[in-house]
Amino acid sequence: MELIVARGREDLVKARRGGTVALVPTMGALHEGHRSLIRQARVRADQVVVSIFVNPLQFGPNEDFSRYPRTFDADLEVCREEEVDVVFHPAAEDMYGPDRQVSVSAGEMGRVVEGAYRPGHFDGVLTVVLKLFNLVQPDLAVFGQKDAQQLALIRRMVADLDLPIEILGAPTVREPDGLALSSRNRYLSADDRRVALALSRALRAGAAQLTPAEIRETARAVLDEAGPELDVDYLALVDPATFAEVSDDYEGLAVLAVAAKVGTTRLIDNVTVTLNPA
Ligand code: AMP
Repeated sequence: MELIVARGREDLVKARRGGTVALVPTMGALHEGHRSLIRQARVRADQVVVSIFVNPLQFGPNEDFSRYPRTFDADLEVCREEEVDVVFHPAAEDMYGPDRQVSVSAGEMGRVVEGAYRPGHFDGVLTVVLKLFNLVQPDLAVFGQKDAQQLALIRRMVADLDLPIEILGAPTVREPDGLALSSRNRYLSADDRRVALALSRALRAGAAQLTPAEIRETARAVLDEAGPELDVDYLALVDPATFAEVSDDYEGLAVLAVAAKVGTTRLIDNVTVTLNPA
């Protein structure tokens, strides 16, 4: 089946064939992490739609919107290889008219952890995801655990706004040495890349501990060892549903999340840990 490239709502309606539809939202520069999401969608749905849209609303004024990688032709090739049915690639001016007024608020949960360092980011994410849901009208959508707070907020939006869409989370795909795949990794020099490995190393060391205090302390020590080239924004141990910091007596699954700048590139990563197991 020929891959269809849709630019707007009419193209999407024309491309619809009946059966279940899965949406995989992306900003392009597709890598193995995106491929794993597409494969999960492929298994569950008759028709797979991948959106490729670098969403201006989720970038702050001093962030990397203009230099975010754009590799559309290579992305189309990846989508063909993965037997995607439709690539939805809207123009920014079609997504956001000049008279735009209404948007989605991520609430308090959008202002903590990653949200504390990127004001308005999650409002921008939820607004574009809701628009994509309305345009594509999928039965299910797949998001990566790599962006754990984003995934948790999308689940909250679906619950709070009664959206009839099933949300699937996909595990983080990593390089053999532990570095989480990211479209931004291409900006890392060989030296940066070595420094960046401290993120996954810290998370692994933390996750091998049992109590919140041990986990925080162990992970922080590994980050500190990396030296001043690793500019850490936060290390957080949080409840996966709310992203509130967990207390010392918390039991069950938690997310250990980290964000740091290496050179001019900002990276995030996280792992799931089990706290105070009985
Ligand atoms: P992005 O294009 O970076 O906005 O990511 C699009 C989707 O791919 C999001 O749901 C991400 O969480 C997911 N994703 C990005 N990197 C990875 C990875 N290394 N492993 C799994 N999913 C990922």
